[in-house]
Amino acid sequence: MNKSGKVYLVGAGPGDPGLITVRGKSLLERAEVVIYDYLANEKLLSYTPESAELLYVGKKGGSCHSHTQEEINELLIKKVAEGKMVVRLKGGDPFIFGRGGEEVEVMYEQGLPFEVVPGITSATAAATYAGIPITHRDHTATVAFLTGHEDPTKEHSNINWEKLSTAAGTLVVYMGIKNLPLIVEKLLAFGRSPQTPVAVVRWASTPRQKSVTGTLANIAQVVKESGITAPALVVIGEVVSLREKLDWFEKRPLFHKRILVTRTREQASSLVVGLEERGASCLECSTINIQPLEDYSRFDGELERLDEYHWVLFTSINGVKYFFKRLHAKGMDARDLKGPAFGCVGKATADFLFQYGINADLIPPTFTGEGLAKSLLDQGVEGRNILIPRAKEGQEYLPETLRGAGAQVVVVPVYQNIPEDAQAEAVRKELGENSIDMITFTSSSTVSNFIAMLGVESKEELQQLLLGVKIAAIGPITAKTVIDNGLTVDVEAEEHTVDGMLAAITEYWDK
Ligand code: SAH
Repeated sequence: MNKSGKVYLVGAGPGDPGLITVRGKSLLERAEVVIYDYLANEKLLSYTPESAELLYVGKKGGSCHSHTQEEINELLIKKVAEGKMVVRLKGGDPFIFGRGGEEVEVMYEQGLPFEVVPGITSATAAATYAGIPITHRDHTATVAFLTGHEDPTKEHSNINWEKLSTAAGTLVVYMGIKNLPLIVEKLLAFGRSPQTPVAVVRWASTPRQKSVTGTLANIAQVVKESGITAPALVVIGEVVSLREKLDWFEKRPLFHKRILVTRTREQASSLVVGLEERGASCLECSTINIQPLEDYSRFDGELERLDEYHWVLFTSINGVKYFFKRLHAKGMDARDLKGPAFGCVGKATADFLFQYGINADLIPPTFTGEGLAKSLLDQGVEGRNILIPRAKEGQEYLPETLRGAGAQVVVVPVYQNIPEDAQAEAVRKELGENSIDMITFTSSSTVSNFIAMLGVESKEELQQLLLGVKIAAIGPITAKTVIDNGLTVDVEAEEHTVDGMLAAITEYWDK
């Protein structure tokens, strides 16, 4: 047996992947085997090395256990005995109602090494994310966690309902939905007031979170009517009344909105971060895969005669990036760019250019191709030589307008967009289920690539597939491409930036 095998029993936290511990994350980053549960967020698996073996042993409760506890124990023993570094990832805290104790007892009995990393348990997360402080100086100094899994009417209960009912100010019940009417009955029978406020929180800390509130007298009915099922927690006690003031999570403006964000693989997903901060759940879809060209001979020729140009115009960050990649590959650098002036379509592109040591000479007040054309025309472009390094496929408005005003314009590709279809299936599935509320487009090419990716054959088919889905566009050119494809734009950013887009989307839903 290899001596290095060990199991780390790690708490995955309640659902939000941001709520795992730093220790838990760093163990995942070097795991050889991960054995994980139904309640552990699968997004956490993205921390694991590519070579890691990922084994799902989901237990949904009730009768549909996919693995028995014995099978899980055997698997743990086997992998550790093989010398593997095993992360056993469990929802919430592994030692709170998760049979984590039993799993490491087995390790102990086998003489196999183990460690345990606590996690944020769903009881505290559910309360916190529902805006309920589980203790509070004005309300209670005690809290009890209990399982509602056990039938409270059974003769020899592990729970002393008589003592418990009024002993702790706050009670949090795990696995209590099925038996809720019986639990309520016990608490009332043993002296808890029927007016005690109660909250039930399902899928706490995730975009699917749903909470309902009531009193001990009516909560069973409220839960039944709202259709809430497991996994959910029941929080009982005066502190629940604080939710009226402190409910921060479900009140975020985009909560319960599912937004499909189309973007290029290389773009930072700052739009996704911003939308998620506002409560949305995002489906990221890289419609474009940006790649260098196979052949740079045309661009190389332009680089040789750069000093003949009066202007170099950048219409995207990628234009800047691939321009400099090639420049550097040719052994040149920023000192070779002293001839022409530089214009950028917007601030983000200009900021990016500045990182290469070039301060843009021109940024139009409106960050669009049209804005850039207008600013240049205002300066006069007659007889000027203008170079536009950009994608192989792009909009013709800017070069044509400049040519119309008497400039000599050379459009030269420095990168290409390769349509991405790997995600098409996931996207089509969600569209088919009507779960997408909105799609965002940050450029014309994201629109055309997205539509190409869907593989629809007609405008009608596209309209049908996107029926009821709202569309947000970053600016007028992108919006026009949406409309040209037979669709409607519901939100157009006033300021053509990611922040402008966030503001417009938030305003749209927060009406
Ligand atoms: N070890 C876990 C609990 C496992 S028992 C922990 O510390 O949280 C499983 C029960 O936990 C579920 O039936 C449900 O009552 C509760 N639970 C777990 N995650 C939850 C979540 N995100 N939202 C609401 N309840 C959750």
